[in-house]
Amino acid sequence: MSLPTDNESLKQQFADFLKRKKYRGTQERFNVIDRIAELDRHFNADELYLYMNGRGDRISRATIYSTLDLLTTCGILMKHRFQGGSAHFELASRMPDHDHLICMECGHIEEFREEKIDVLRDGVCTRLGFRPMAHSLQIFATCHDPLVCPHNRQD
Ligand SMILES: [Zn+2]
Ligand SMILES: [Zn+2]
Repeated sequence: MSLPTDNESLKQQFADFLKRKKYRGTQERFNVIDRIAELDRHFNADELYLYMNGRGDRISRATIYSTLDLLTTCGILMKHRFQGGSAHFELASRMPDHDHLICMECGHIEEFREEKIDVLRDGVCTRLGFRPMAHSLQIFATCHDPLVCPHNRQD
């Protein structure tokens, strides 16, 4: 897939979308894209709220929530639901076609690329007469020992 990767093209894509949908394109909303690119990882709305206000952005939770929804609808953000928790987001252009392994012991999310999964996806689509666009796979697993697991931190 060819998605724009730099912030300026993402902002242009978002501006076009807002105009088409007749939403107001406030500076606040565009600033959210810069902050998300800085974070460069999965985040939920609260984490982004704390991060942005920690950087002195003075943005409301309501604006964060509505902007994340709009960015998801226009395809700039991917929204994940990892085992029933709050929705997590990441830039769609950040790491194309990656999948997630979720540790059910400590909640750690490992990102990985496995080309064989792309091959399987394409094969299934061909067999059923579809054209593949993207996929999302979550593997649920447990680490060997949560007490010594390096990922078992509260953050
Ligand atoms: Zn990811
Ligand atoms: Zn673990």
